[in-house]
Amino acid sequence: MTIALQGRHALVTGGSRGIGLAIARALSGAGVNVTVTGRDRTSLDRAAKELGAHAVLMDVTEAQSVSEAMTQARKVHGVIHVLINNAGQVSSQPFGKTDAEVWRRTLDVNLSGVFHCTQAALPDMLAAGWGRIINIASTAGLVGYAYVAAYCASKHGVIGLTRALAKELASKPITVNAVCPGYTETDIVQEAIATIVRKTGRTADEARAAMTASNPQGRLVTPDEVANCVMWLCLPGSEAVTGQSLSISGGEVM
Ligand code: NDP
Repeated sequence: MTIALQGRHALVTGGSRGIGLAIARALSGAGVNVTVTGRDRTSLDRAAKELGAHAVLMDVTEAQSVSEAMTQARKVHGVIHVLINNAGQVSSQPFGKTDAEVWRRTLDVNLSGVFHCTQAALPDMLAAGWGRIINIASTAGLVGYAYVAAYCASKHGVIGLTRALAKELASKPITVNAVCPGYTETDIVQEAIATIVRKTGRTADEARAAMTASNPQGRLVTPDEVANCVMWLCLPGSEAVTGQSLSISGGEVM
């Protein structure tokens, strides 16, 4: 089945580490020409070297940066067939301590970033007559969690955007879906554990246990499990699946 993807061009935002790197690795393994993007040149080059991918600097919050990066990516691998909107960040604090800068920054990266990248890549898919847009949202796009109001708002927004665009593109061979991981073993979780330790005095083991307890399977999701779901959405046979938000959370959200 992966033959169907060979020679396609996939661009993975935030492909330098964590979930994005796992997705880029899976796509690359299926013979897809992969472009990974991010802001840090060193980690991006490391990822690109491992995968044999093309690395391009891009800040998803800046429309100009997105446009220039996509132009560079097309010069190497041609039109973009698959867009993985993965770049994201989280900051946790009580709502009353969520200042306007945290609010703006979280929405800029997690929601407006998806908007900028999708607007820049969609014309390629329309011209090619085939496309896959996969937004890495979160279970925080499906339910509320305490102390991450800005993050929840941004990820709910991503799911709204996914649904609206899927409907708008339903007559075309382009699907738009969201993937919603629960706590996944990446730097974001390491930072969340450090924040819990700093703010509550709990040990790192206790903080990690609280996170795994929220997953009925009693563990964290792995980046490869998220990548497997993304691959399925790219492969033939998933054409009827569009506008969906797939929870990858061990049954935490169903
Ligand atoms: P990481 O922190 O490990 O990686 C984040 C990636 O995004 C990095 O490659 C980073 O590269 C890039 N990035 C961050 N900000 C920007 C920006 N402004 N412009 C371009 N690239 C940017 O995160 P994860 O792998 O954990 O998360 C990936 C996605 O999955 C996010 O959208 C996150 O919200 C979501 N998610 C994660 C969960 C988890 O528990 N880990 C659970 C649910 C969803 P650089 O710093 O070089 O720019």
